[in-house]
Amino acid sequence: MPHCPVRAIRLMVTLSATILAVQAVTAVPALAQSPTGRGIDAHMHILSPENWMDSPVGAQGLIDAAIDVQTIVQLVDDAEIERAVLISGAYFFQDQERARHENEFTSQQVRAYPERFVGLCSVAPLQPWALDELEYCITSLELQGLKLHLVAENMNLTNPEHLGVIAGLLAEAAELKPGLPVLIDFNWTDDAQTFSLIQLAFTNPSVNIVMAHGLGHHYSELASIYLYRELLGGFGENLYIDISSTLFLYPPGSPPFENYIWHLRRFGMDRVLFGSDYPVKSSSEALEALEAMGFTPEEQNQILQDNAMKVYGFQPSVRR
Ligand SMILES: [Zn+2]
Repeated sequence: MPHCPVRAIRLMVTLSATILAVQAVTAVPALAQSPTGRGIDAHMHILSPENWMDSPVGAQGLIDAAIDVQTIVQLVDDAEIERAVLISGAYFFQDQERARHENEFTSQQVRAYPERFVGLCSVAPLQPWALDELEYCITSLELQGLKLHLVAENMNLTNPEHLGVIAGLLAEAAELKPGLPVLIDFNWTDDAQTFSLIQLAFTNPSVNIVMAHGLGHHYSELASIYLYRELLGGFGENLYIDISSTLFLYPPGSPPFENYIWHLRRFGMDRVLFGSDYPVKSSSEALEALEAMGFTPEEQNQILQDNAMKVYGFQPSVRR
């Protein structure tokens, strides 16, 4: 396992480390409830009309309107994708009222299409109300998981205090609902934090952790997780990844491509989820990138649908 000194990298707070392009968001009329295709986009962001412009992505001009469920419906229908995981923008806000509004907005939007979408609560972990907000999200709003974006508060998983805060949230999540999915992103800024997160997952097996963006350029650690899981006592059974963004970092023809695919397969194709990270990419763009990767039909079905159904608790489609 690589061992490097921590690099104190502070990135601008964006939806992702790898914002490559942002689509303009335009409100569209409500569409029919019926699904139009198959598959699950397991990483899409939404932001309310009241707060989007004060989020970092709004303030930086990366989006030019709110992202509501009608926008999402249009995007997944365009890609002939059936369902999606929608992420609350509450983590952008350290003000409790604004965070609460984003979580309530997410819950309300998801409830408009309960067969198609699940919603993830989010919180700014360092705020004193974070644990209470998580409880409210799961018990009152009935959101189906938690999203943590640690760069939004300049958190660092090599800081024992910050590590304790995240461990506390994971413990609360497990108590509220064993197996709760927790999507975690910290832009994969350094090796030490990456391994710290993996250890955190090992010691909190009662939540299912989805590491956003496939560990980014630290994807070689996926083979280490395989080693722990398969050979050293089953650590890491609760670890999954989504490959939003990395689909575009390591496309066919890029020097790391074969290496990247080998690591995904080593980690386990039953643990890899598809996502666009909208508004970074649209569902159609991400699906086109996935289909170019050369996975077998069985692997692609796992990535596009089966794994997200299992992790996020989607019910089987009425169409199948
Ligand atoms: Zn994201």
